[in-house]
Amino acid sequence: MPVRSIVVVPHGALDSKAAEVTNIDEQIRKRALDMADTMYKAPGVGLAANQVGELLRLIVIDVVYPYAEPQDKKKNPLFIINPAICSSDGEVCKEEGCLSVPEFEIDVKRAACIQVEGVDLDGKPLRIEADGLLARVLQHEIDHLNGTTLLDHASALKRNLYRRRLKKTTRRFTDPSWSSF
Ligand code: ZN
Repeated sequence: MPVRSIVVVPHGALDSKAAEVTNIDEQIRKRALDMADTMYKAPGVGLAANQVGELLRLIVIDVVYPYAEPQDKKKNPLFIINPAICSSDGEVCKEEGCLSVPEFEIDVKRAACIQVEGVDLDGKPLRIEADGLLARVLQHEIDHLNGTTLLDHASALKRNLYRRRLKKTTRRFTDPSWSSF
């Protein structure tokens, strides 16, 4: 399965709301498998379709694989189409990073436990109750589907500093004299 490129800020797909998937066909399944390969390769614990430039409500998560011992590593991606949080409880603040917002980590307040509904790749209804890292990743990926990134959780000051840093880095990488070092 081909690995897709992960888009980074300020790519427009990251600020856009993804559309409901109405038809679960071979094409959607193929996209989902490509997304899983992209997530494992990154490596990351979750990926939303917006992050590969597709405005579809489709996410993939595996919070076990990256932390498993080499002999226990088994890919077991959780695919959710049209995920929606139907209930939540508690509050936890923890540091998060994002493959689409490189070199940026901030503390984000999230619900401690959530219940998510959606459908799987066969169109069967799914209901997931999660806490810990899975609850956090689910909320992070559903944020992406709504066009929200970590930058939107940051203070205006932090956001502006990051954007300024981003511009400088882009300039540096595109400057031919720099690349000749
Ligand atoms: Zn992210």
